[in-house]
Amino acid sequence: MTSRFAWLSALLILVAGPAVAAPPLQVVASFSILADMAREVGGDQVQVTALVGPDGDAHVYEPTPADAKLVSRADLLIVNGLGYEGWFDRLFASAAAKAPVVVASTGIRPRTMEEEGEGRVTDPHAWQDLANGRRYVANIAAALARVAPDRAAVFDANARAYDQRLAALDAWVRAELGSIPREQRWAITSHDAFGYFGQAYGVGLLAAVGVSTEAEPTARGVAALVRQMKDEAVRVVFVENMSDPRLVRQIARDAGGQVGGELYADALSPPEGPAPTYEAMFRYNTATLKAGLEANAKPVSR
Ligand code: ZN
Repeated sequence: MTSRFAWLSALLILVAGPAVAAPPLQVVASFSILADMAREVGGDQVQVTALVGPDGDAHVYEPTPADAKLVSRADLLIVNGLGYEGWFDRLFASAAAKAPVVVASTGIRPRTMEEEGEGRVTDPHAWQDLANGRRYVANIAAALARVAPDRAAVFDANARAYDQRLAALDAWVRAELGSIPREQRWAITSHDAFGYFGQAYGVGLLAAVGVSTEAEPTARGVAALVRQMKDEAVRVVFVENMSDPRLVRQIARDAGGQVGGELYADALSPPEGPAPTYEAMFRYNTATLKAGLEANAKPVSR
């Protein structure tokens, strides 16, 4: 009986073998933007989970036991790096994970800044520059290929097509925001998530709190921001999808400015929202910023 069963199994494997596709790789990304990139590169060869999902804040995330289970079973783990996921190392250790970890931001030029009480800090929001995003995609594709060399051609083809779209999107963002007079390209955001964006696309984005949402806004900092808005005729303030909007709404009121809409900073929207993918996020943020910046009605020379 046993031997007949074994023989039958062997026959089934022989018959079914070539037709059965290899199971998808289990990929776990720290947050929604990396998960979207991994889906683009991996296509149907991957099953991707984000630990911090849509509209989530990865700065202050607290992993759950279910996360540890996911991480322990993953074939590949993807993180941003640059100090973004302060909780990841402990999760990795507690899960006794064995999968390789790819740091998606490897090779980008980090932006650093002076922060009150913190000294020099590294800005982790490198994905907000599409040139960096393209580097992320290349790093993710290379990592997937190392995990499954037999599928490297698929990952490479997907990554190439995706990279071309991101390059075109980068040119579009430049053209859209470039059409606004430079002296009008100033705005306030909730936390300092748009430093790379501002640097890449020529927009001055001042923030109520620093590069992490963990920081508490100081009364002095907020007063200085309100004064700056009044002095320099910055009229427009943007709220963020994953941050409490009350502080920036208050700043807008105090400075006599207006809220220009919601920007997607550190997370995508749910599928039914306006920014469910990395590409959609850039299109939406750019359109929102452009409309808002046009409200900087009284430009002054800087
Ligand atoms: Zn952030």
